[in-house]
Amino acid sequence: MIIVLKPGCTDAQLTHICEKLEEMGFRHEVSRGIKRTLVGVIGEEDQLRNAPLKAIPGVEEVMSVLKPFKLASREFHEEPSVIDLGHGVKVGGGYLMMIAGPCAIEGEELLHEIGTKVKAAGANVLRGGAFKPRTSPYSFQGMGEEGLQILRRVGDELQMPVVTEVMDPRQVELVNEYTDIFQIGARNMQNFNLLNEVGQTNRPVLLKRGMSATIQDLLMSAEYILSNGNMKVILCERGIRSFDSSTRNLLDLAAVPNLQGLSHLPVVVDPSHATGRPDLIPPMALASVAAGADGVHIEVHSCPEKATSDGAQALLPEQYAEVAQQMAALAKLLNKTIPAAGSAS
Ligand code: PEP
Ligand code: MN
Repeated sequence: MIIVLKPGCTDAQLTHICEKLEEMGFRHEVSRGIKRTLVGVIGEEDQLRNAPLKAIPGVEEVMSVLKPFKLASREFHEEPSVIDLGHGVKVGGGYLMMIAGPCAIEGEELLHEIGTKVKAAGANVLRGGAFKPRTSPYSFQGMGEEGLQILRRVGDELQMPVVTEVMDPRQVELVNEYTDIFQIGARNMQNFNLLNEVGQTNRPVLLKRGMSATIQDLLMSAEYILSNGNMKVILCERGIRSFDSSTRNLLDLAAVPNLQGLSHLPVVVDPSHATGRPDLIPPMALASVAAGADGVHIEVHSCPEKATSDGAQALLPEQYAEVAQQMAALAKLLNKTIPAAGSAS
């Protein structure tokens, strides 16, 4: 349910409404739009239908959201959400996040070298996996906590927010100590315990679309995080499984305007995992910006043949620099801003 507040509803009335909802056993989330203030109410459908919400002072209207995702919907939040990522970087509502870095953290010197180069090229978020979801249990599984420490140090030195994957609810506390943004990987998009756990933190979450997930599945997963109180969810299209093996996955670019029409959450595209091919990543990165993406996520490695994971799809730093420059030109044409990492928040 969504409660629409009367114009001029006072802060005291809003506090009273929230207290009443808590008394009735409902969770709630306030959305202050330019035109009106809404309160999203979450609880059992039957109980919600029968609750006397309209009788609370300050309430103008009570609407039921027909879509199964409520807090993720445009009905709840009309304007696009803008999420602060730290180090002066924001995403959504005209701000683009440019995520770049190696698939896995392999060592401090290497991460520092790659980070320095991608930042100089215009990237504003540094990525690197410390816990890697590998298809084979015999493949490199990541550096674990040592990797997280390296990522944190390099991010601080370069003044860039960092993003890294968390694979298990038991890792959330540890990863939370080091990262600015949690990444939920495609394979874990429906790990509901993990979604609940990151939903209880206050950190932005980059939620990747599962390889067989529909648009609605992705939004329902976002809803798990939002309904726990964490409204900082960034959706990521990273390709879905298809019958065609000429690319690693099939990039669903229409997902960008499709999701943006349904939801206020920012939508980022990852052409690296979507195509798996360095020759296809630059054109698909540009197409992502042209399609209105709120960010682009690209894997970069200075020596792809030595990479411990996903080397075959990594761009060289100079290839990244070229496409980043083109993305910046396109962003400017579209009146979008790419915040520089390291400027004051
Ligand atoms: C990654 O970002 O390195 C990764 C494993 O991505 P995905 O979950 O999209 O496969
Ligand atoms: Mn990867």
